Amino acid sequence: MGKTENLFNRRKFLVSSVLGATGVVAGATGIKSGMSSSIMPKNDKTNIIYRKLGKTGIKLPVISMGVMRADNPNIVKAALAKGMVHLDTANSYQQGRNEEMLGKVLKDYPRDSYVISTKVKPGGGNRKTGLYTDKTTEEDFLKKFDESMDRLGIEYVDILYHHAVSKREAALYEPVLNAMKKIKASGRAKHLGISTHKNEPEIIQAAIDSGVYEVVLTAYNFKQDHIPEMDKMLEKATKAGLGIVGMKNLAGGYLDKEKQKPVNAQAALKWALQNPNVHTLIPGFTNFEQLDDCAAVLTDIKMSSDEKEDLIAARSEQGMYCNACSACVPQCRKGLPVPELMRAYMYTYGYRELKKGQDLLVSLELPGDVCSHCDECTVSCVKNFSVAEKIKDVSRLLDVPAEFIA
Ligand code: SF4
Ligand code: SF4
Repeated sequence: MGKTENLFNRRKFLVSSVLGATGVVAGATGIKSGMSSSIMPKNDKTNIIYRKLGKTGIKLPVISMGVMRADNPNIVKAALAKGMVHLDTANSYQQGRNEEMLGKVLKDYPRDSYVISTKVKPGGGNRKTGLYTDKTTEEDFLKKFDESMDRLGIEYVDILYHHAVSKREAALYEPVLNAMKKIKASGRAKHLGISTHKNEPEIIQAAIDSGVYEVVLTAYNFKQDHIPEMDKMLEKATKAGLGIVGMKNLAGGYLDKEKQKPVNAQAALKWALQNPNVHTLIPGFTNFEQLDDCAAVLTDIKMSSDEKEDLIAARSEQGMYCNACSACVPQCRKGLPVPELMRAYMYTYGYRELKKGQDLLVSLELPGDVCSHCDECTVSCVKNFSVAEKIKDVSRLLDVPAEFIA
């Protein structure tokens, strides 16, 4: 989009036109609880706004819980009590401890009181190209899914995602699709999905074309430069019957490394939900204050003028969110995977998720002194990031022993 003054005008038009055309949302903003439902978890709360997750038959509250960084079971219990019945985790989060923690919590809840999604990242992929190799096998995917199910201790997940896909070829990679189809046929995953935070429109198109994926989990936030393209693609996906889950909605959480400028979380979540083609969001809160902030949006997605102004101001700041546009990659003398390095930076300095930042760095198999012998950076970022400086900052993590990082 590029122009902040259009950040809201176009959305207003989009919401009203889609509301009228589809009748998907009721009232001013969305489906209220109490409507007839095919699958709606039982701990429903009055006034929570629900949306249909495509053709899956699931209705979800507009705010779900991204469990990724949470390690306190009481946060999960509190989220469920507030009506955030959809919990999102992954095989790789906290090296499996995230699923284990969830499994311990969920054994005390009836299976029809929550919706759970997990993700499996196939092994053998090339982080730099985003493509799979002959080491990426059906058996490996099935084994990882088995691990996840053992940790969760449940008979089925509602959604199983193919995790972190950035290339069409990877989205349609047959061994992975075969494994996922087998899992669905066995009843251990009710629905199949794909997650993406790079080349999202390409992956969403691949999901539509596949005839296999029913849900897309995609990065979607007010800082993205390709919002118009995303909106068109999300509309297309919704028309094709896909459910859309939004992530990275807070665009890094902070606008500065020093954490003096937090993103207005409620405003950022509400902004994403102005698009009726986005069905629920998975903010990754880790404490009760953040939980309350997110929970407020469960029943109210109308944006105040102050919230709009906050986002317009935040959009004009550089912030920490890399669009993963890859425009910089051919410019780097060493051909570094700059978007991934910027994502590691955001995990480390935005989310303060050092382990995740380090894991991503290690997976890139970079030399310790990443930009060494390169005196003048030739990269010109579309967002004016000081790429070399950020790489220098974040690559220090490569020297820290893993056991020193929580
Ligand atoms: S660092 Fe800048 S140019 Fe490179 S992918 Fe991110 S936003 Fe695009
Ligand atoms: S200084 Fe810039 S051009 Fe050189 S390796 Fe680092 S990112 Fe690439």
